[in-house]
Amino acid sequence: MGKIKVLDEHIANQIAAGEVVERPASVVKELVENAIDAGATKVDVWAEEGGLSSIRVTDNGSGIAPEDCETAFYRHATSKISGGRDLFQITSLGFRGEALPSIASVSKVEVVTACGEDGAGRRLVVEGGTLKNNEDAPASRGTDFRVRELFYNTPARLKYMKTVQTELGHISDYMYRMALSHPEVAFTLRHNGNSLLQTLGGGDLLQVIAAVYGTTSAKAMLPLEGESLDFAVSGFVSLPDFTRSNRSAITTVVNGRYIRSHVLNQAIMRAYHTLLPVGRHPLVVLRLAMHPSLVDVNVHPAKLEVRFSKEAELTAFVEESIRAALSREVLIPKAVNQRVGRSNDTIVQEQFHFPKREGFLGELAAGLPQDKDVPVQGGYSLPPEPPADREPSAAVPGAPLAARPQDPAAADSAAAHGAAAAPAAIGRASCRGRV
Ligand code: ADP
Ligand code: MG
Repeated sequence: MGKIKVLDEHIANQIAAGEVVERPASVVKELVENAIDAGATKVDVWAEEGGLSSIRVTDNGSGIAPEDCETAFYRHATSKISGGRDLFQITSLGFRGEALPSIASVSKVEVVTACGEDGAGRRLVVEGGTLKNNEDAPASRGTDFRVRELFYNTPARLKYMKTVQTELGHISDYMYRMALSHPEVAFTLRHNGNSLLQTLGGGDLLQVIAAVYGTTSAKAMLPLEGESLDFAVSGFVSLPDFTRSNRSAITTVVNGRYIRSHVLNQAIMRAYHTLLPVGRHPLVVLRLAMHPSLVDVNVHPAKLEVRFSKEAELTAFVEESIRAALSREVLIPKAVNQRVGRSNDTIVQEQFHFPKREGFLGELAAGLPQDKDVPVQGGYSLPPEPPADREPSAAVPGAPLAARPQDPAAADSAAAHGAAAAPAAIGRASCRGRV
């Protein structure tokens, strides 16, 4: 009698959860990705106790059809791809069909969802991978997802969760990356009732940079734009005199998906070359667009890493685009001839003038609040500006709860300085021409 057995679905889901649901921020990531894939323009996230006691994500996207609600929790059930060929043309953030069954296998999930505006929706409850309820329920269009008691049935995993501050740091860092990847979506993040992030969703990336990093940072950014046969890039790069102590303020987005890429980071650093002091890093938000066939996103369970098929061309393009932006705006001095008088002869001496930055920044910053306390949206105040070098505070391991970020200022610090090595962010993966 053979010894090999096919594991049942429940165990398979728990195994997948080991990779997909590493910590509370992974749940936030997966649910927010689903919201964006559903075409949401507004995504609200609430977390309690670092997301371990509760995570709630609501969106105004397409909703899930009543007949699909249960299927959505099956392993490898997805509406985003239908065959092997699609794997090479991924235009959505999700495609593996693993998130919902994985999350539901290690927590208590309640989802209320509706596809139309007639108020008719569906409510599902799944606990520890077991369906407890599937019934009609009133709901407005969109999806409301609640995940409670994460890892309640996997004590070994629960034991390895860090402090509330650390888990919150991961969540907020992920949300910042998401907001930077999708300026067209209005995001909010609240933790234990405190607002940590609010973006407008108007598509203005500089405004999102201001909401995440503060206005001083936003004003120190240079716009970046470029296009080649295969790639398009847009975004912002910081002036060389505005530096950070680590590379956590570098955000690279490919077709709307936040990714971590060593080769892109290297290209960015090469572009700055000797302009940065040793050991310092810029603040960069780089949004790349390319045909989906040029990037393989199926190389990492959390889809945080990708593989580029034209890596050398891409890194050269990125380096050149950033270098052009830097030299265009600040670094190419203009030579001016100046006459230096002497009694008999005249020496013509070249002097170099660096162009003033206020001009273009004034224009760019016109839409930005000029003062720290100018509301950005609905009573929200911009965070006070942290010093450029301040190290993170939002994810100090062991920090007492009282020290958690009470307002976006602390969050600002967390994102800007990357206390939380983020699990990941991602954005809408459609290649919509210019990013
Ligand atoms: P994937 O995103 O890889 O397809 P998931 O397990 O995350 O897999 O989700 C399964 C399916 O459930 C999705 O393909 C989608 O059809 C549906 N779904 C999940 N969340 C949402 C949402 N917020 N709005 C609309 N549909 C959703
Ligand atoms: Mg998904």
